[in-house]
Amino acid sequence: MIKILLLFALGYFAWRAIKKISGDGGRIGASRKNDSPPAMDADMVQDPQCGVYVTREGSVRAEIDGRKLFFCSRECKEKYLAGRGAGK
Ligand SMILES: [Zn+2]
Repeated sequence: MIKILLLFALGYFAWRAIKKISGDGGRIGASRKNDSPPAMDADMVQDPQCGVYVTREGSVRAEIDGRKLFFCSRECKEKYLAGRGAGK
């Protein structure tokens, strides 16, 4: 009898865990790493080279003509600078 109750409880907790993962719990973890559309505009900046959104903390920063620019990677920053140099 106790075994059945235990199984029932385990099943209930498993169901709750699955529901949590498939619900909002899993989405928060996934959307932070991916370049999903910015939910928090204050923290997200757009890479002018490739258009990807990055967080200010995770971005590569550059100051060009007094303007602060944020890049997703060093390659993008170098490409952007190279493109500017070649254009003018
Ligand atoms: Zn980039």
